[in-house]
Amino acid sequence: MRNKWLVVGTLAIVIVLTVVVLISNSSNVDEDVAIEYDAPPNIEGQPTLGNAEAPVKVVAFGDYKCPSCKAWDETVFPELKETYIDEGIVEFVHVNTPFHGEESMLAAQASESIWSQNQEAFWTFHEEIYQNQPETQQHDEQWVTEETLLEIASSIDENIDLENLEQDLQQQAFQEEIGEDLDLVEQFEVAQTPTIMVNQYKLTNPFDYEQMVALIEQENGE
Ligand code: CA
Repeated sequence: MRNKWLVVGTLAIVIVLTVVVLISNSSNVDEDVAIEYDAPPNIEGQPTLGNAEAPVKVVAFGDYKCPSCKAWDETVFPELKETYIDEGIVEFVHVNTPFHGEESMLAAQASESIWSQNQEAFWTFHEEIYQNQPETQQHDEQWVTEETLLEIASSIDENIDLENLEQDLQQQAFQEEIGEDLDLVEQFEVAQTPTIMVNQYKLTNPFDYEQMVALIEQENGE
C-alpha cells in the first residue's frame, strides 16, 4: 500500500515538474510573429540612437545597397523614431549586413568610419546613403563608390574628416568591426535584410509595424 502511494506521489511530482518546465519554456509570442532567442544581440561598439538606458533595444540588420532597407528606413523607421526612440523607450541599433557584394561592403566601411569619428553625423549619413539609393529597378547598377560616399559625407557635416574617411575606405580599416557584425548575423541566423530584432525577438515580418509595437510594449512591461 505504501509503495502504491509512493508511485502515485512520484508521478504527481513528475507531472507538476513537467508542466512547470513547459510553461517556463513557452513564449507568449507566436512563432509566426517572431523567433525568440535566449538573449538579445550584444550591441557593444555598434552605432546606436536614443536613450542608452532604454528598456527596449531595436536592432536593425541593414544593407545600404538593399532596396527593402531603403523602404524600411523611409516608412517604418520615422514612426518608430517619433513614437519610441525620441520618447526614450527604444534605443535603436544599426548592424551592417553587407549581403550585396562589394558596394555593400564599401558603404558599411564608410558608416563604421563615420561612427568612429563623428557619432552625431552617423545617423544623417546613414539616411543620406539610403536616399542616394536609386529606385528599385536600377538598384543593381553600381552607385556606391568612394566618390559618392565622400560627397555625401562632405554635404552633411563639416566636422567629418574627409581625408580620414577616404583613407579608411582605401585601407578597409573596419574589417574587424564588420566581422563582429557578421558574427551577429550568423548568431541570429539573419538571412535577409532588413531583419529587425526587438530585444531577443527576431521579427518574421520587419514591415509589420503593429507586431513590432506589440513586442515593444510587451518588453517595456506594459
Ligand atoms: Ca557595426
